[in-house]
Amino acid sequence: MPLVDTKKMFEMAYKNGYAVGAFNVNNMEITQGIVDAVAEEKAPLILQISRGARKYASMSYLMAIIDVAVKENPDIPIAVHLDHGDTFEICKQCVDEGFTSVMIDASSLPFKQNVDTTAKVVEYAHSNGVVVEAELGQLGGIEEDIEGVSSDEVSKHLTDPDQAIEFVNSTGCDSLAVAVGTSHGAYKFKTVPKLAFDVIEKISKRLPGFPLVMHGSSSVLKEFKDLINKYGGNMPDAMGVPEEAISKAAKMAICKVNIDTDLRMALTAKIRQVFAENPAEFDPRKYLGPGRAAIKSMVKHKLNVLGCNGKAAECL
Ligand SMILES: [Zn+2]
Repeated sequence: MPLVDTKKMFEMAYKNGYAVGAFNVNNMEITQGIVDAVAEEKAPLILQISRGARKYASMSYLMAIIDVAVKENPDIPIAVHLDHGDTFEICKQCVDEGFTSVMIDASSLPFKQNVDTTAKVVEYAHSNGVVVEAELGQLGGIEEDIEGVSSDEVSKHLTDPDQAIEFVNSTGCDSLAVAVGTSHGAYKFKTVPKLAFDVIEKISKRLPGFPLVMHGSSSVLKEFKDLINKYGGNMPDAMGVPEEAISKAAKMAICKVNIDTDLRMALTAKIRQVFAENPAEFDPRKYLGPGRAAIKSMVKHKLNVLGCNGKAAECL
């Protein structure tokens, strides 16, 4: 089947209490690791591409890789999503290139400008059959060139539920990324974070059925942090969002959970291990291969945390 948008996925995720994993792709091995995992777990999938990924790999290469993934997995619904588009122009370009979903992140602008920019993207995207994710509130941490508030400040910049209702009603966006205490990157928190489940609940009470999105939701898994540090890396203070909290949010109105840092760490941990244990190795297949396998097993685990394993068929 061709690429799909996220409408059906979110409808089923909302109704049946799970979230769809949105995984960032930058090259062939990362994409293959993710796609092999969803194929085995029979999960719906959102592959997302950041502006940084577009620059690094070029869109034509990424789309060609994704095309193969789609052809080889006819039973898996796959959406291609722009992660953190910051202007109307980049969103338009992605719509024109065949993305099935785009994010316009104008959350750093004042409310009214965020509404106007988002509404303009929604109008163009919808007229081309593409869905739109928007963002309201400020996340913490740093992701590529997107710098959020500092980790200790996260709880002061949560999405305001009243504003969220007004924002959704006046923009017509299809899903909304909310700030509920998560944070981008590997160095999210100094202590275990508490997510603002009350914000999710308040929004879902007043917008029943409307899908919410959680960014900055990698868990910074201990097994990979330990491997990286054991084999010459230096990530001593990395800490993420506990998986129990992610599972709980997924059962609520959170229908999409973004994962990037955990992919990077799985790949890096495995490559470091191969290099440390086999210093004579110089065949890229001998370290990228195990890296890809590490991504696959990490993603399989995540799909279970999100509860979307076994849900591919109902999302078709
Ligand atoms: Zn994000």
